[in-house]
Amino acid sequence: MTTVTLQNLRKEFGDVVAVKGIDLEIEDGEFLVIVGPSGCGKSTTLRLLAGLEATTGGRIEMDERDVTGVEPKDRNVAMVFQNYALYPHMTGRRNITFGMKSSGDFTDEEIERRVEDAAETLDIVDLLDRKPEAMSGGERQRVALGRAIVRDPDAFLMDEPLSNLDAKLRIQMRAELARLHSALETTTVYVTHDQTEAMTLGERVVVMNDGQIMQVDEPQALYDFPANRFVAEFIGDPAMNMIPVDIEDGRAVHDAFTLPLPSVDEPASTDRNGAGDAPLGDTQRAVLGIRPEDFHLPDARSDDGLPRIDAEVNVREPLGDSLLLHCSIGATSCNIQAAPRTAVRAGETVSVTYDPARLHLFDAETGDAFY
Ligand code: ATP
Repeated sequence: MTTVTLQNLRKEFGDVVAVKGIDLEIEDGEFLVIVGPSGCGKSTTLRLLAGLEATTGGRIEMDERDVTGVEPKDRNVAMVFQNYALYPHMTGRRNITFGMKSSGDFTDEEIERRVEDAAETLDIVDLLDRKPEAMSGGERQRVALGRAIVRDPDAFLMDEPLSNLDAKLRIQMRAELARLHSALETTTVYVTHDQTEAMTLGERVVVMNDGQIMQVDEPQALYDFPANRFVAEFIGDPAMNMIPVDIEDGRAVHDAFTLPLPSVDEPASTDRNGAGDAPLGDTQRAVLGIRPEDFHLPDARSDDGLPRIDAEVNVREPLGDSLLLHCSIGATSCNIQAAPRTAVRAGETVSVTYDPARLHLFDAETGDAFY
């Protein structure tokens, strides 16, 4: 049973504030992913949790025990790194058992039993007598995972463990990590810059930017109800379109269209994460967010009562399962996702509608979501 609590956690490297006072509660047995762009402070947060960096401020608790100043070896957490960190001159078995042997806490029989169990779980029995040079990247990472699980730690801390693998192997290992987690149910904190990895592995996802937490939520909720512009643009590929508008009497006015807006009292999407708390003025600048798949190319004869928006198609990209249209709506560039094989040519102007229940609106100044 391990819950991990971060209270006002802070880390400075000279003038650089890598982590700016974050609060976070990681539940027992949870798979929590921290995602964000390069330099946002996610690895530093993980290293603070492991005790590999000293905090500049704040507190870390594991099961209500203050571990802020506790040595890494006394935290009972296991790190898994991007570069595997295996000893090249040792076999898989020696790499897995080395930490346990040198700790002196385990009998030889216990070590042997744990190695066999881990090797079965990870399907690496054949790798135990090989050295890392005779293993593929995926095999090395399995051995590194073996080394982490034999210790039966209170928490796994994983820093981009799949990023050295090729795309196909990454997908395979992603599924294996998910399976491993459901078998072991050990609290796991997993750092990545890859939003697909975050969305597929995380039971909850923390989005970080510039040393701060932007939002913590379940993957689908992050996608459907981003609390601010940063999360809206970071989660989702191709990214959400951001269209600058003026709000006038409950309508969004752009140089190429005018749309009626749901009022903030009746948000288009459920009010979450404080979204919708900010007052929406009668007249103000805002940014309308529409995901590429929430635009629709209606049948010319259909009459759904929705306003039409003219979009000039600049480039068409057939992606197989969809057709991505790079368009201009007035002076704004937008991506529109259409059905595959839609008969539209570059240079044509299409008339599109949108899903009114899936509009997002952000404060132009702060980036916070109205809804
Ligand atoms: P990446 O995905 O590129 O690893 P990250 O989100 O994990 O990025 P961190 O490695 O946590 O980011 O770094 C956060 C900030 O702290 C960056 O500006 C980085 O340059 C700085 N930083 C990290 N470690 C050190 C260090 N040992 N000394 C000085 N600055 C550091």
